[in-house]
Amino acid sequence: MERFPVTRASTSRYDSIDYGNLRFGRYFSDHMFQMDFENGSWGTPQIVPYAPMAIEPANLTFHYGQTVFEGLKAYLHPTGAVSMFRPGKNLERMTRSCRRLCIPDFPEDQVLEGMKQVIDLDRKFIPTEEGHSLYIRPFAFAMDNLLGVQESTRYRLLVITSPVAAYYPEGIKPVKLDVPGDYIRCARGGTGTAKTAANYAASLLPAKLARQAGYTQVLWLDADEHRYIEEVGTMNIFFVIGDEVVTPALSSGTILEGITRMTAIELLKDWGYTVHERRITIDEVCEAQSAGQLKEVFGTGTAAVISPVGEIHYMNQTMTINNFAIGEVGQRLYDEITGIQYGTREDTRGWNVMI
Ligand SMILES: *Cc1c(COP(=O)(O)O)cnc(C)c1O
Repeated sequence: MERFPVTRASTSRYDSIDYGNLRFGRYFSDHMFQMDFENGSWGTPQIVPYAPMAIEPANLTFHYGQTVFEGLKAYLHPTGAVSMFRPGKNLERMTRSCRRLCIPDFPEDQVLEGMKQVIDLDRKFIPTEEGHSLYIRPFAFAMDNLLGVQESTRYRLLVITSPVAAYYPEGIKPVKLDVPGDYIRCARGGTGTAKTAANYAASLLPAKLARQAGYTQVLWLDADEHRYIEEVGTMNIFFVIGDEVVTPALSSGTILEGITRMTAIELLKDWGYTVHERRITIDEVCEAQSAGQLKEVFGTGTAAVISPVGEIHYMNQTMTINNFAIGEVGQRLYDEITGIQYGTREDTRGWNVMI
């Protein structure tokens, strides 16, 4: 693959980073990947300094939200090697998000190559501490400047990176979820399967209300009947009921297809678990809990990998799950996935892409 042209940063941001207190997504590395779409095609990719950009006030993205994003990580192995985890899956999902938002298809192979180049160039930004990583944020947005709801004719695709700490500095801590009575995440036919800004803007108020009531995040139910479980803020959700693992099916067309979700399902099946991707109601979860059959609940997502759920609040019921501890299935998935990502367990499935 060709090397893309690089404009080097004249000063480094490295010394301004507090590596002892890396709050998520607050610091950025020196360079970013950039590719612009104009006159009907994507131009030559380049690597440029991470810096403020001139954007006109009438940029369509501000007004109508024609934008998509992705999130993945680069991991430092004990050998000094650096890898990304299944980045092709993120690029495929970004293409699907782009199509939903009328953003033109981009060359996935060039963006993959660009990510590798940026990570390699800014290698020193990858934190060395255990469980830390370099978060990678590809995103694309409209660049036309006009007021009027319409597709842009120009776009920009960027990849920025951010050194991040382990999600759980004091060990894995179960989260508390609230099922909102008044809000939904998305309806069938909407944008729920796309990683697009509007979905997250719409979630801010319900998430804030849940936090004010003492919960970590929201557990979304479907928009039609308000019975079927969909997912959590930025995580998919799994239930261990008896000996079976259940996760909401993607066929509703309202759930973001997580790569951690996909990975967890593949591993669980390999390990001989019975995994059902099907519709599951909140009532079924409450009944399983009453019958003593609800063994574990956990979320899956790139940021935390596995996030055990210790409590679910629905209407006037509060369920405490597995005595507020991570369960056996969640722990096994966490150990295996992070082991592969950090190169301490064998990657037999070819999931790691080396930089
Ligand atoms: C990103 C995201 C997920 C998790 O996806 P991963 O690829 O596993 O990180 C789940 N739900 C929503 C709404 C998301 O935005």
